[in-house]
Amino acid sequence: MVTRHVNFNAGPSTLPLPVLERAQREFLDYEGSGMSIIEHSHRGAVYEAVHNDAIERLTRVLQIPDTHQVLFMHGGASTQFALIPMNLRNDAGSGDYIVTGTWGQKALGEAKIVATPHVAWDQSVEGRYERLPKQDELNLRPDAPYVHLTSNNTIMGTQFFELPDTGAVPLVVDMSSDILWRPIDVSRFAMIYAGAQKNMGPSGVTVLIMRKDLIEGARKDIPKIFRYGEVAKANSLQNTIATFPVYMVRNVLAWIEEQGGLPAMERHNRAKGEAIYGAIDGSDGFYRCPVATEDRSVMNVVFRLPSEALDKKFVAEATAAGLVGLKGHRQVGGIRASIYNAMPLDGVERLVDFMHRFAQAN
Ligand SMILES: *Cc1c(COP(=O)(O)O)cnc(C)c1O
Repeated sequence: MVTRHVNFNAGPSTLPLPVLERAQREFLDYEGSGMSIIEHSHRGAVYEAVHNDAIERLTRVLQIPDTHQVLFMHGGASTQFALIPMNLRNDAGSGDYIVTGTWGQKALGEAKIVATPHVAWDQSVEGRYERLPKQDELNLRPDAPYVHLTSNNTIMGTQFFELPDTGAVPLVVDMSSDILWRPIDVSRFAMIYAGAQKNMGPSGVTVLIMRKDLIEGARKDIPKIFRYGEVAKANSLQNTIATFPVYMVRNVLAWIEEQGGLPAMERHNRAKGEAIYGAIDGSDGFYRCPVATEDRSVMNVVFRLPSEALDKKFVAEATAAGLVGLKGHRQVGGIRASIYNAMPLDGVERLVDFMHRFAQAN
């Protein structure tokens, strides 16, 4: 018997148990091919079928229109922070950046190295971002090559529930920690990108969903290996892609489809979010969420106890009870519960139950 913890880590994060069991079952002899999927050539028919199945399933699950193409790349979301300005800048500079947390700051930092970006919004209070901007607070340029934003702030615990209007300027979104959390209208995005290791699979592959005209218009005066146009032309097989992570992403997508697709994910995620925020709000101030109510993330719930000593005690006792990964990011402290698609409602109920007992005892 295997004992598995309830894993609230922010990323890499918990994966659906049936997906892990499938990988285990299929590992030594993938579909009767006499070898593991990780021993197959990335150009062979067996892997290629997995690769294309991952693309087809993602297209089906997110209802990606024909105007867009799915790409897989290496280097995590952080590499895209550099590749986006390299590929999409114009001769005047990089894009407009809506900075709402650490990841947005990092994206802006890389864009500055490539070519001058423009900051459309960046208002932290003592380094913390506890709310998101309203449309009329954004300083957007109508001739910007693109607008960049982070849809879910994994560290700060904020999430955009409505997208800003960027007019005709292409909207580029880092969706690393909330891709697939609910249905979205992909046509509103020029580019979506996400490291797989939060809501889609293991680390090692980054998924891009890009408008084809943006790919075609991307710059060609950079090394070939960094050009979106080349990646697209090669169906992401320009060089050896991370085959095992793509296989795992495919299996996570198959699991999502079995669960009823993204409408089912949304119901499930909202129920979990309500349970934890309900416990915070119903604690007579024992637990406190620093984030503006309308911007509270359904993926990463951030909260604090009355003192840092109690934060520590909470984490230690939760860990002993099999609830792991709850320590907040060092930048904001406190507690963070990451409750991505793969976190079962039962795991959240166990946390809520623990929160009640801890508040009573302390
Ligand atoms: C984790 C995270 C990143 C960094 O991802 P890597 O794949 O490690 O580069 C970027 N953006 C967001 C929103 C994240 O949550």
